[in-house]
Amino acid sequence: TALARTAAAHGARVLTRVRALRLAAGGARFRDELTGEEGEIRARAVVNATGVWAGGLVEGLRVRPSRGTHLVLRSRRLGSLPAGLHIPVPGETNRFVLVLPQGDGRTYVGLTDEPVEGEIPDEPDVPETDIGFLLDVLGSVLDTPVRRDEVDGAFAGLRPLLDTSAPGSAGERTSDISRRHAVLTSGEGVVTVVGGKLTTYRRMAEDAVDAAVAAHRLPAGPSPTAALPLVGAAEPAALRRLPAPTRLVRRYGTEATAVHALAERDRSLAEPVIPGHPVTRAELLWAVRHEAALVPSDLLDRRTRIGVVPHDRAEALETAREMLARG
Ligand SMILES: Cc1cc2nc3c(=O)[nH]c(=O)nc-3n(C[C@H](O)[C@H](O)[C@H](O)COP(=O)(O)OP(=O)(O)OC[C@H]3O[C@@H](n4cnc5c(N)ncnc54)[C@H](O)[C@@H]3O)c2cc1C
Repeated sequence: TALARTAAAHGARVLTRVRALRLAAGGARFRDELTGEEGEIRARAVVNATGVWAGGLVEGLRVRPSRGTHLVLRSRRLGSLPAGLHIPVPGETNRFVLVLPQGDGRTYVGLTDEPVEGEIPDEPDVPETDIGFLLDVLGSVLDTPVRRDEVDGAFAGLRPLLDTSAPGSAGERTSDISRRHAVLTSGEGVVTVVGGKLTTYRRMAEDAVDAAVAAHRLPAGPSPTAALPLVGAAEPAALRRLPAPTRLVRRYGTEATAVHALAERDRSLAEPVIPGHPVTRAELLWAVRHEAALVPSDLLDRRTRIGVVPHDRAEALETAREMLARG
């Protein structure tokens, strides 16, 4: 959301829960997924940045999705590790399973790299084979292996790897496919940016905008984004001086004081959403008021990660609805 909000601060109009149904060089047909209303947007240039779903909107693009699964464990099960672990995958060179304490009482263990065939789902299921693989690798370094019934949750994402193999060939293993991004302009003039990494997002965006400017001969100056601070950014020394809890400063930067002020004005908002997890009701209200959260899953699965443990998600649902109504 920091990226979207920074863009909005510079004039972008951000519409969430709106699905592009068809793209053309001069616009898109869309559907508001909350109301079902459809319409057309006109634009001087169209960039398709829909990740693993990009191939559904333009012809001739072959994405090879690769599923990455994480397990969620209670941190105390692993003795509250003070740092993460890299566990070598037995029989493989240079492949590791990571054990990542999250600082919220949960530890993530991941991740897999498995090819996914067929229709690309909105949310990938986690097969038992992924869970078994991760538990086996984790168990290879523990005296007492973690049991299946000690896994509190699991989630998966699909990497948008670009298929550059010859059509009809078996192709490479997904773990061997390049993580670099590609920018492709269709015959019609729709620019697609796909592949890449979170760590290269700004470069991906700059390359895509350059391609759109070139394809449509748009007037544009040099990109200013390399030195543009995101909403909430500040020097570490300035962040340390903020009168707000450290956890909020890490999460919100300079905006932590505004999130904290919500809870100062109304002490009920200082309460955690669920017992044993640090996210407060104030953070959900902030997400409704300032981070464009529209439905409970925006709050529980996207603006916060409470929802990666199904039991916690069920417990938090009522509060999420309450904060949406109050927003
Ligand atoms: C399991 C996994 C592990 C990863 N690990 C790392 C890592 O360690 N380091 C790293 O740098 N990168 C990592 N990545 C890569 C990184 O997450 C992706 O490269 C990055 O998310 C791609 O960004 P994107 O904006 O292209 O696509 P996405 O982040 O997928 O965004 C695409 C957006 O388009 C939306 N969308 C899709 N279809 C439509 C439509 N028809 N209309 C409107 N909106 C639509 C989707 O809802 C989504 O919000 C990992 C990815 C996965 C899945």
